[in-house]
Amino acid sequence: MSKIEGLEQFKLVKRSSIGFIVFSDNAAKTIHQSKCDVITEGKFASNDGNGFHWFSTIDMAKKSFSLVMCDTCKPDD
Ligand SMILES: [Zn+2]
Repeated sequence: MSKIEGLEQFKLVKRSSIGFIVFSDNAAKTIHQSKCDVITEGKFASNDGNGFHWFSTIDMAKKSFSLVMCDTCKPDD
């Protein structure tokens, strides 16, 4: 797993549309496709970049976290 460090790295991940982003807050850890519209720069900024991790595959993410699948981008499909 790799923590997304800073807005520039976040933008690179979004632009590439490669892999998956796990967003963690107090409620849950939710996995999204990197291009998911729910995961925005505003959301990243409003959390000070905390709780965002990038994974190349869903399986790698599942090994690290107990995950909820995003209802919007449905990363299991
Ligand atoms: Zn999503």
